[in-house]
Amino acid sequence: MKLFDPHIHMTSRTTMDYEAMAAAGIAALVEPSFWLGQPRTHVGTFEDYFSGLLGWERFRASQFGIRHFCTLSLNPKEANNARVAPGVIELLPRYLGKDGVVAVGEIGYDDLTPEEDKYFAAQLELALRFDLPVLVHTPHRDKKRGTERSLSLIRDVGFPEERALIDHNTEETLPLVLATACWAGHSIYPKTKMDEARMVALVKKYGSERILVNSAADWGVSDPLKVPKTVALMRESGVNDADVARIFWQNPVTFFAQSGQLDLDDAAAAPAIDQTRLFQGNSVLRGQTPLVQ
Ligand SMILES: [Zn+2]
Repeated sequence: MKLFDPHIHMTSRTTMDYEAMAAAGIAALVEPSFWLGQPRTHVGTFEDYFSGLLGWERFRASQFGIRHFCTLSLNPKEANNARVAPGVIELLPRYLGKDGVVAVGEIGYDDLTPEEDKYFAAQLELALRFDLPVLVHTPHRDKKRGTERSLSLIRDVGFPEERALIDHNTEETLPLVLATACWAGHSIYPKTKMDEARMVALVKKYGSERILVNSAADWGVSDPLKVPKTVALMRESGVNDADVARIFWQNPVTFFAQSGQLDLDDAAAAPAIDQTRLFQGNSVLRGQTPLVQ
């Protein structure tokens, strides 16, 4: 079975992670642009970050047989950074139409500030203009209020709910999202928040429709194999194969295909690995023998 990790920050991960993910069946992933752990000091750093997601990182994934797509945005946390926020909004239109951009994201709330309201709404408008779906981060603190406010902003702006993926859900927020036409993402973490067993229980209670699961792995404590690990527990726990395939392949493909940048056949065709290839003269090999499939 082919698996899709619809939220993972590969820029922060190693080639061994790529190898392990491919071996565990991950054939495609979406890398949302996000917060780097420390505040950016000028808008130009976003430019290099966006072009890295579209170029080098996509190439790196291909070297291990994985399809790489990305979502671009001003992240919720840095909406509060007046040094960069307005400039990033000006910059985004130059990147949103590029190949491999499957949504505007992560957008949403971090601390529920007025600045976050303003830039969340501005980026919903950008997504409308570029005919893209949105990936919405929900805050770690005050998650329920952040989710409610996200859903009402989407409604107020008139953004089509079926083109919004509300991420990082829990038992508390999932029913709120399923009561709308939005899609519901879940991030599985090693020690805190949602885990594999709680995810299995949610699927047994709510089914598989509009449900997605991701690792949200990044530079923090996280595990890039949480998608295949959750699949394994679901099967052991008696969730049927049709539901598993829907959650871990069809749902992410259907959701992100709304961008016009991804379709099922396209994403199912794993790229043949050819490590003799170069990206702007650079390879991932460090002198090792290239693998060619
Ligand atoms: Zn993230």
